Amino acid sequence: MKIEIQGLNKTYPNGNRALKDIDLEFGTGMFGLLGPNGAGKSSLMRIIVTLMKPSSGIVLVEGKDIQKHRKELRSMLGYLPQDFRFFTALKTWEFLDYSGSLAGMKNRRERLAEVDRLLDQVGLLEVRDRKANRLSGGMKRRLGIAQALIGNPRIIVVDEPTTGLDPDERIRFRNILSLLSQNDVTIILSTHIVGDISSTCQGMALLNRGELVFNGRPEDLIKHAEGHVFKMMLTPYEYDKVKEHYNVISTIPVDDGWEVQVVADDVPEFNSTPIIPNIEHAYVYYMEHKMHADIIE
Ligand code: ADP
Repeated sequence: MKIEIQGLNKTYPNGNRALKDIDLEFGTGMFGLLGPNGAGKSSLMRIIVTLMKPSSGIVLVEGKDIQKHRKELRSMLGYLPQDFRFFTALKTWEFLDYSGSLAGMKNRRERLAEVDRLLDQVGLLEVRDRKANRLSGGMKRRLGIAQALIGNPRIIVVDEPTTGLDPDERIRFRNILSLLSQNDVTIILSTHIVGDISSTCQGMALLNRGELVFNGRPEDLIKHAEGHVFKMMLTPYEYDKVKEHYNVISTIPVDDGWEVQVVADDVPEFNSTPIIPNIEHAYVYYMEHKMHADIIE
């Protein structure tokens, strides 16, 4: 499923420019949209699922403008919004059954079989008879993904699904998504948590204040940070100096001072060793150092 975003802008009536000239293209598999709060992720997601119109620009799915083919797009779409809640007192399975009806599954027997298959897939089969609004936070999120999956969508959009989850649930949710991404579907995952972006993502985009600052594979983002992350052993006096001038990303106390990691172009006045960056280092390099250094390519 090929998705092309061309020259997309969104300005809200109050003048907030949430998206500025966004061009993106991706296909089957998982695509990660990463950025801090207020970057424009939800705005982009709401446009993709046709809940909101852009101020200008278009989104094409398989070459078709989604604004002109809304009904067709919605029939192949599953969406887990950021503020997904249960206002009903339906049981877990009933909620999913209801979602299945909304998604157009008319045959009751097939629908019920699908409900249990999905509950099993997201690890909720044991609580199928519990009231949905009595589930734990993590379980609710998993029911949210199940409701996005019912009706066999080809495009699955999940907006900040791991926010507020404890580490166990976060890992569980990520695993569900990576298993899904092996099917022939397109998953668009938005997150402000760097750890949610993994090698499972074939592609990723980094948004900041409505602008696209990086678009590529997670490995490419990391590559850009190579040679810009350093480890140093510092005395308390040196540590104060480094803190003043450099972007310190980790500090570990050692016997006679500190072991610190910094993101910088170079740290000439200190004895430093370059280290292999991970995705979190690369994120800091892009969002804090590179942006401030004003050398965005
Ligand atoms: P993210 O999902 O990355 O946190 P959003 O898309 O929610 O970002 O928001 C992007 C920007 O648009 C922010 O500055 C936010 O305050 C603004 N914004 C979002 N929704 C509205 C709205 N309905 N009206 C006005 N401004 C909005």
